[in-house]
Amino acid sequence: MKKKILSTFLIFLFLGCSDNSVTSSEGKVEIDLNKVYKWNMVTTWPKNYPGLGLAAENLSKYVDEMSNGRMKIKVYGAGELVPAMGVFDAVSQGNVELGHGASYYWTGKVKSSQFYTAVPFGLTAQEINSWIHWGGGQELWEEAYAPFNLMPLAGGNTGVQMAGWFNKEINSIQDLKGLKMRIPGLAGEIFSRAGAETVVLPGSDIFLALQQGVVDAAEWVGPFNDLTFGFHQVAKYYYYPGWHEGGSTLEIIINKEAYESLPDDLRAIVKYAARAVNQEMLDEYTANNNRALTELVEVHGVELRKLPDDVLVELRKISREVMEEFIEGDEMATKIYNSYEAFKQDVIEYHEISEKAFIEMRDLED
Ligand code: CA
Repeated sequence: MKKKILSTFLIFLFLGCSDNSVTSSEGKVEIDLNKVYKWNMVTTWPKNYPGLGLAAENLSKYVDEMSNGRMKIKVYGAGELVPAMGVFDAVSQGNVELGHGASYYWTGKVKSSQFYTAVPFGLTAQEINSWIHWGGGQELWEEAYAPFNLMPLAGGNTGVQMAGWFNKEINSIQDLKGLKMRIPGLAGEIFSRAGAETVVLPGSDIFLALQQGVVDAAEWVGPFNDLTFGFHQVAKYYYYPGWHEGGSTLEIIINKEAYESLPDDLRAIVKYAARAVNQEMLDEYTANNNRALTELVEVHGVELRKLPDDVLVELRKISREVMEEFIEGDEMATKIYNSYEAFKQDVIEYHEISEKAFIEMRDLED
């Protein structure tokens, strides 16, 4: 009996000790309910920009509510603390704790960041969320950003975008020859190879470029965002589908040391608030895109057009070549692209008989 009590006591003592030692070796931060963490967050969007810009504001709000005011995040629009394209460096260097933007802005620094926003003919919102959170995407993203002292999280999704606004009809791949279009990134490269002259312009410059005929076409996001910029006043045709951005993900980046300085409960709050923001944006876009599209077509008389299948097939062919060249010689980008593509092949098989079959079924006529 005595022996049993003693051994129980020893086990208890051992567990107690080991728990303490684990605590210190993992660098657990003591929870101090009176301590208020004040963080700054820079973004690549104008302050309070509908949809994209509000994700950062929502993160700040959710973290404040969940932490009962123990963590305050002040959000800055592009250019207020740092320019839009300075967000990555500002957070990486620890000048600010948090950033919000689109990861593909940083392909010049981290090639593989492209895969965390959008890949032409890639994953939809539902699929990319699944790859990131259940398919190994998150771990690879952390690995790619670790050398930059950054912890990335998905922070919003626009859903499938539109192919864009055109003042010329696209009836065949030949119609892309000489077309001047605002379309950035890999999609721009693909359009260039199809013969278009592509340019990169910030969203706020698109309207004037279309109006003055500097470009014949431009892509931005989708009906919800495009309506606010008024592109329907300066372009005739609104083409779909957004073959190049099937579910563009936004990102939250956190300075790693700042993240590790948080006690466990606040780390969890930041993480789950990001997860909520990620879903929240998709819900907002789904609701608002439909409303905005109805207004564009019924009130403003926009001509909605679908890109012809043979044009899409041709773009997909070029896209494969561009992707192969893009990852060549970059070990991390190759590793992430392979994971992304393998996940895509798997999920496509199931979505054939689930999402796609369900949507087609709803369209069956009596
Ligand atoms: Ca876009």
